[in-house]
Amino acid sequence: MNPCPCGYHGSDANRCRCTPDQVRRYRDKISGPLLDRIDMHVPVRSLRQGELQNKTQGDNSSVIRARVEQARARQIARQGKANHQLSAPELEHHCVLTEGDKALLEQAINKLGLSTRAYHRVLKLARTLADMAARDNVNTVDISEALSYRTLDRQSSNQ
Ligand SMILES: [Zn+2]
Repeated sequence: MNPCPCGYHGSDANRCRCTPDQVRRYRDKISGPLLDRIDMHVPVRSLRQGELQNKTQGDNSSVIRARVEQARARQIARQGKANHQLSAPELEHHCVLTEGDKALLEQAINKLGLSTRAYHRVLKLARTLADMAARDNVNTVDISEALSYRTLDRQSSNQ
């Protein structure tokens, strides 16, 4: 989605001419229950001319594919299904948090005003981040990263 009706909100190159009220109304078009189901909100800046032709330094698709397949294989080996298919009790079983991480997550959920569904989705994403890093346990960094992808919840809860 665009960040605002004119598309330039948050851009370095162009000035946004929307009022804060217009931006809010535009973003409110996505309902809370729909936003709840979107696990990763990632801001993407507009590209400069010619940028798409430049060689990027990131991993190429086949390297990323291999990493995703390994993470998925870890999930199947551990629990017989992918993380997104886990029920709430299964998730608690395969995603054991320290007391500190539990407190961090609950505090963030309350602050962002997230639903129980969103709570479980954040936890599943954290579980997947740990799997991507080939770690057995979910740690503070995974929880923090999973929460960092809920930027739109944060904006709507601040209004
Ligand atoms: Zn704008």
